[in-house]
Amino acid sequence: MRKKLAAGNWKMNGTSNAMTEVTDLAARFPESNVDILICPPATALSQLSGILEQSPIATGGQDCHVALSGAHTGDISAEMLKDVGAGYVILGHSERRDSYNEVSETVRAKARTAISAGLTAIVCLGESHVQREANNTLDIIGGQLAGSVPDGATGANLVVAYEPVWAIGTGLVPSLEQIAEVHAFIRTRLIRRFGEVTGIDIRILYGGSVKAANATGIFAVADVDGALVGGASLKADDFAGIINALQQA
Ligand code: PEP
Repeated sequence: MRKKLAAGNWKMNGTSNAMTEVTDLAARFPESNVDILICPPATALSQLSGILEQSPIATGGQDCHVALSGAHTGDISAEMLKDVGAGYVILGHSERRDSYNEVSETVRAKARTAISAGLTAIVCLGESHVQREANNTLDIIGGQLAGSVPDGATGANLVVAYEPVWAIGTGLVPSLEQIAEVHAFIRTRLIRRFGEVTGIDIRILYGGSVKAANATGIFAVADVDGALVGGASLKADDFAGIINALQQA
């Protein structure tokens, strides 16, 4: 049985002022029947991990380098994330694929390194608006999945996040049928590559303009094991609404 996951991606938001939101969130969820995760900027990870030490809420990074250490000015390694309490790392987010030309081979190499450092890799996939309009969604997702996920992935070390690029931060959400189609496709491909047991064990999140108001409908879709949430993860009130919806799904 897959444990559901509500993951927050703070992106480049979150100075020390944001810590009150975390304290507030932790007070609302002293225990949880779903996994809860916050991925703040790397600068806030140590403080956040400290605040959440006694909480079921986990922390994660938003990216890591392919190498575990070395001469890579400005980069963060998987080992460093682990060292400050992170359990997860988001990889191949569309904003990184877009802004840093991260291709699937790079994402795959990063995922391999993250897993070797003891982190769970959240590998993001998603089609652009143009690709969806051209009916290429499943081809794009299939290619990104095959290229970005490393061999040896399991339900413990990998989470897949389906995030249509056109739905991120836009308020646009695919129809429930569109979400169902892509999640079923990803599940089939995972089973084909990793076998029945492992393929069924890997969680698939939906991401893209998830809010408390639309979460219940999205979480009722087959093979949606939770959400990767951007904007609505910044405020305890908003994120708590999504977590509550997931707990009741
Ligand atoms: C994201 O950045 O992964 C995301 C899904 O953002 P938002 O929820 O703001 O659309």
